[in-house]
Amino acid sequence: MELHALGDDARIDLLVVGGGVTGAGVALDAASRGLRTVLVEARDLAFGTSRWSSKLVHGGLRYLASGQLKVARESAVERNVLMTRTAPHLIRALPQLVPLIPGLLRPGQAALIRTGFHAGDALRLTAGTPGALLPRVRRIDADRTRRLVPGVRTDGLRGALVAHDGQLVDDARLVVALARTAAQYGASVLTRVRAERVTGTSARLVDTLSGRELAVRAGAVVNATGVWAGEVDTSIRLRPSRGTHLLVDAAALGHPTAALTVPVPGSTSRFVFALPQQLGRVAIGLTDEDAPGPVPDEPQPTEAELAFLLDTVNAALATALTRADVRGAYAGLRPLIDTGDGSTADISREHAVLENPDGVITVVGGKLTTYRRMAQDAVDTAVRLRGLPARACWTARLPLIGAPGHRDSRPLPTGAGPAGPVPASLLARHGGAAHEVLAAGELAPIAEGLDVTRAEVAHAVRHEGALDAADVLDRRTRIGLVAEDAERARKAVEEIVAECLGGGWEG
Ligand SMILES: Cc1cc2nc3c(=O)[nH]c(=O)nc-3n(C[C@H](O)[C@H](O)[C@H](O)COP(=O)(O)OP(=O)(O)OC[C@H]3O[C@@H](n4cnc5c(N)ncnc54)[C@H](O)[C@@H]3O)c2cc1C
Repeated sequence: MELHALGDDARIDLLVVGGGVTGAGVALDAASRGLRTVLVEARDLAFGTSRWSSKLVHGGLRYLASGQLKVARESAVERNVLMTRTAPHLIRALPQLVPLIPGLLRPGQAALIRTGFHAGDALRLTAGTPGALLPRVRRIDADRTRRLVPGVRTDGLRGALVAHDGQLVDDARLVVALARTAAQYGASVLTRVRAERVTGTSARLVDTLSGRELAVRAGAVVNATGVWAGEVDTSIRLRPSRGTHLLVDAAALGHPTAALTVPVPGSTSRFVFALPQQLGRVAIGLTDEDAPGPVPDEPQPTEAELAFLLDTVNAALATALTRADVRGAYAGLRPLIDTGDGSTADISREHAVLENPDGVITVVGGKLTTYRRMAQDAVDTAVRLRGLPARACWTARLPLIGAPGHRDSRPLPTGAGPAGPVPASLLARHGGAAHEVLAAGELAPIAEGLDVTRAEVAHAVRHEGALDAADVLDRRTRIGLVAEDAERARKAVEEIVAECLGGGWEG
């Protein structure tokens, strides 16, 4: 949808500023409760922090360890909602293993980790997540450990402790699924539209492509701009913390199917993870560094962070990785609420819904995993403060586009497409909406050795609001995470984007 279609001085119930996981979640919550909703995103869906995460759907174990019981419980409940009802098609159960290798763990640390894992299991049970979906904690022998992570160090390996968590095929795809589902419930989703002069009941919307401006009046305005929240509402004080991941070829670790969890020397609660990813890579992360000063569009990892990640993970690998193995790296800023002193790692991951004297409602903090609860709290606040005509929240029962139970979902077994075998990678990214992708174009790969199809690129433009090659390379797909891959695919992506753009966004 285009900005001018709203009409000048448009009146709506709710204006949502920011198209990350939080804003897209708020738009879906509001639209599905019957509110006339507009979401504006200054750049593209998932342009901000939401695409730089570890892509885990956390059960809350790490918050339990730091005594944040409320966040831990909320995470486990939301993980259950995501994995059983709203987005099971985008999430798989990921075994996370801590290898038992002499010298890797400090004395007593294995027992501590085991206790923590069992506490995580208790959280899983209280959230009602079945063991068939997320298997319970166990210890495995050295053979099984090697099969799950072939690159693990084997001298003295006594096996591993294993716990399971949820893993998204990709974080940006969750945001796109949320935005599309919101649009199906009537929300207008506008990208390349920046909100300026935001008050509790109005904003100036600027189309960053054409420069056109428009005034909008709303019953309520929700600021969901994450790490940029203080720019929209100057009463908000954040303390951004940078988290960095690097990417290596999955082959460098022997194509692992489980995550390797390596304790950071000198800490009892910090770990570095080697997480298997789509597109044949492993992501190794992550850091937690104070990042004061102006918020950059795209935060950059430092060499010191990359060296720290390589050094830590190498302690658990048979063959050490070097800087030359690093195929790409990315960093994101956590939108943490400033609580004064202490390290950013100690700041609560709890979310907050705040109203400023002007009436702007800001929702900030939290996690990707808890976006739905954040959205519910923000819309509940807007409804209560402004008397908006909304039904009760029901997003915990609302399947996202592509999920089983969504009205347009059609399950397609791997290998059963009308035009030949459907790649498993395409099904993992689109679930029950894969049939829409098949109708959009050819199943040939966009470039040799990349398991993204030409059809997915066309579908991104026709149905997912991608407006240029960068939207496709960096957010609808994650080809752009490795610069060489992006260069190989760019020309074909640009051609398909140009071809499809005439057709517009069909929603
Ligand atoms: C390194 C790292 C790893 C993480 N790993 C995990 C994980 O594994 N699991 C998990 O649950 N959570 C994880 N998190 C946390 C999670 O990623 C964030 O909490 C979440 O993505 C924040 O989303 P958001 O929508 O609030 O912000 P963002 O995604 O940053 O969205 C804000 C949007 O607002 C837009 N915007 C800004 N100003 C304006 C304006 N004036 N007008 C219009 N639009 C505007 C921006 O362009 C941006 O797209 C991680 C975070 C980091 C940094």
